[in-house]
Amino acid sequence: MTIRTRFAPSPTGLLHIGNARAALFNYLFSRHHGGEFFLRIEDTDKERSTQEAVDVIFRGLKWMGLDYDNKGEVRFQASYQPRHAEIAKQLLAEGKAYRCYATQEELEQMREEARAAGKPPRYNGLWRDRNPSEAPEGQPFTVRLKAPKEGKQVLNDLIQGTVEVANAEMDDLILLRSDGTPTYLLAVVVDDHDMEITHVMRGDDHLTNTFRQMLIYQAMGWDCPKFAHLPLIHGPDGGKLSKRHGAQSVIEFREQGILPEALCNYLLRLGWGHGDEEILTRQEQIKLFDLDGVGKSPSRMDYAKLNHLNGVWLRKATDERLIKEILSRLKDEISEEALPVFQKRLEILMPSLKERAANLVELADNARFALPGPIPAFNDKALKILSNEGIAVAQKTANMLEKLEDFSAEPIHTALKEFAETENLKLGKVAQPLRASVTGTTASPGIDVTLAALGKEEVIRRIRATKNLIKSEGAA
Ligand code: GLU
Repeated sequence: MTIRTRFAPSPTGLLHIGNARAALFNYLFSRHHGGEFFLRIEDTDKERSTQEAVDVIFRGLKWMGLDYDNKGEVRFQASYQPRHAEIAKQLLAEGKAYRCYATQEELEQMREEARAAGKPPRYNGLWRDRNPSEAPEGQPFTVRLKAPKEGKQVLNDLIQGTVEVANAEMDDLILLRSDGTPTYLLAVVVDDHDMEITHVMRGDDHLTNTFRQMLIYQAMGWDCPKFAHLPLIHGPDGGKLSKRHGAQSVIEFREQGILPEALCNYLLRLGWGHGDEEILTRQEQIKLFDLDGVGKSPSRMDYAKLNHLNGVWLRKATDERLIKEILSRLKDEISEEALPVFQKRLEILMPSLKERAANLVELADNARFALPGPIPAFNDKALKILSNEGIAVAQKTANMLEKLEDFSAEPIHTALKEFAETENLKLGKVAQPLRASVTGTTASPGIDVTLAALGKEEVIRRIRATKNLIKSEGAA
């Protein structure tokens, strides 16, 4: 049997990490078993579904590198409503479902009674065995499943183990609403059946739905797919993951400079383990992933760990890719003429820049000084260094550097060392004011690489400009 999994998000929010992890697990499970992974957009809640959320699902999956196999044929659930309704009508015709004419008041009364008896609110079967001839004419009705009252549902969940629910605990669920639209419970079953899904892997908040959906499979005489319910992701404090904890949607993580490999690696390790292996490439993930490694208890989101993994993946990324990231993140600050110069500078700086940044936002911030032109701002520490004797040292160093013919990192390094010796200064005392002058900060890649990347002309211009800067700050 070819394994076929699916990811079935509702486009009502912006791809939450719980969903992203479900997508990843479904993807890895199918790939591990040489199976298929399908995408279905559950857009039946027209009021809450948005095009933006649909776009985010597509972009998010692409960004995470989760290829689905039904490209060009992604199933949009709402378009299949006639098919869902057809199944409800079939069940009705077979006497496995019935029309329910209960009024709002009657339903409210049932809820009241259940509440009073300390039971969960539920439908009491008012129309289950009534003769259809009693149906009030022209009145709206819902279609309900005639669910068994005896016996139990036994679910052999691939993660949770065996879970049972007595049929008496469940009421006759609605298949078609009074406006004729199919319910979510029905739509999912029909779609999973029609798409020939073999394994349904989703958050364990769907566990109650599963028992009710099993009743629909049985009524139709369809084989149930295998189910695997993933424990949820909680906030770091064990409560529900919410905004105050930090980013939650895949897009937010991306904006915060997280690499997709880092997010996937993190989400995989959250609730799945294979020994102590922490850093896993996609190939390794596919090779190792299976459901026996998935834990049963909820996991806690650990932002510090994600950031740590992000640093690891950032250092593994190619310079070329990181340069592209910086160019896209700083695109509004880069003029057309500046672009080739900036790009060349980044090529020189990238091996050092990527050692220092924890994420892509930081990487872009740290690279900003290399934009051609004057430095937009000096930070306080840089100003402090330049306001002491630093400024004089920088000017003097500029005179020396101006004469240097080969302005690449190595000769710069030698020249600065010799200069420091002659001036009887520690190398740091020479490097610091230089760095402050040419970057406006006190942290950058090694001074030799920094100067070489900027090029002689820009270095000298920037150092000379600091004379005026300090005067205008009133510090010289
Ligand atoms: N559309 C559901 C959700 O986004 C998932 C349904 C399922 O996986 O069966 O929560």
